[in-house]
Amino acid sequence: KKMISDRVAETKPSITLAITAKAKEMVKSGEDVVGFGAGEPDFDTPEFIKEGAIQAIKDGHTKYTPATGILELRELICEKLKNDNGLSYTPDQILVNSGAKHSLSTAFQSILNEGDEVLVPVPYWVSYPEIVRIAGGIPVFVETKEEDDFKLTGEAFEKSITDKTKAIYINSPSNPVGAIYSIEELKVIADIAVKHQIYVVSDEIYEKLIYDGDEHVSIASLNEDIKKLTIVVNGMSKSHAMTGWRLGYTAANPEVAKAMGTIQGHAVSHPSSITQYAGIAALKCPECVLDGMLSEYDSRRKYCIERLDEIEELSYIYPKGAFYVFINVSWLFGKKYRGTLIKGSMDFANLILDNEKVALVPGVAFGADKFVRISYATSMEEIGKGIDRIEKFIKEVE
Ligand code: PLP
Repeated sequence: KKMISDRVAETKPSITLAITAKAKEMVKSGEDVVGFGAGEPDFDTPEFIKEGAIQAIKDGHTKYTPATGILELRELICEKLKNDNGLSYTPDQILVNSGAKHSLSTAFQSILNEGDEVLVPVPYWVSYPEIVRIAGGIPVFVETKEEDDFKLTGEAFEKSITDKTKAIYINSPSNPVGAIYSIEELKVIADIAVKHQIYVVSDEIYEKLIYDGDEHVSIASLNEDIKKLTIVVNGMSKSHAMTGWRLGYTAANPEVAKAMGTIQGHAVSHPSSITQYAGIAALKCPECVLDGMLSEYDSRRKYCIERLDEIEELSYIYPKGAFYVFINVSWLFGKKYRGTLIKGSMDFANLILDNEKVALVPGVAFGADKFVRISYATSMEEIGKGIDRIEKFIKEVE
């Protein structure tokens, strides 16, 4: 008999893991590595949120909570969704999860049957296809175009639908591109989803990281029909610099919410009570979101693209949200760096890490091998130093 499940065999370990591990080793041994790889805020969690957690410990809130999360927190999430997104939910439609990644995995475990297909627009966040596979589904990749900022079009969506299609991922603002869907674009997607009765799993984790006066629209807010089919996923990791706390949440129709509650109850019971109290403190102060971080991210973004613009030949997708720049490095493929052939984004990432000490994520991890992703969730000084090194690396390619 097989001692490990077939599902694990089919699940790819994160491609980025090897590079991240190597970069960490280099830092440990004292090397001056510029970290453009991280997908997390470099800011500390705001003090008032930490205080909320400390107070919870002192008050003895250290016991089991309801499986779907503390009622006060679910009520605050309802208020947030109403005020920020124009969405009306009751607390029984809300589920507090251990991070948005856990929201996604619980959602798919709740809706998928063996062999159901889930449409994954490419490029995608690394975990999307694997979360589907682990839940017994089949990820079906949908191509998008660079000139559309890699956003899904109605045509591509509709063409990929089969009688097995159960759900589609939408991620706006997106990782790795930083693209934002307009209300018109979302309407097209919503109409198709409603016509074919397909769930939209809307990952809105980067909602608050938006620049140039752009606006975030939740697809669920377009009309009642699409709201019933949408599973809204959000969380505090990026908006409140709380990656390590593991706090995500889901809003869905009552049937899906109940199914998710059942799965969660047997899997993790609920997220840590202390984390939930930190979440309560965070959401009690809606005006404290990002707590001054947004303007800093925006300055870094501007500096980053200003510097990248100075590098001839290099092109990137103009980042409108999140904290990444997706850079096209494909013109270097087939050329050599100090005698080594660059065949794809993985070679580029390895060579630049080994030689110029820049850690970035190869696009192949997101299904887009022509690109690499840099994260500007790091200091201006590091951004400057890192782009100097990228420039130097490119100059040596021949
Ligand atoms: N969704 C996207 C698109 C992300 O980039 C991330 C984190 O990098 C997550 C979800 C997961 O967030 P969390 O830390 O809340 O699990």
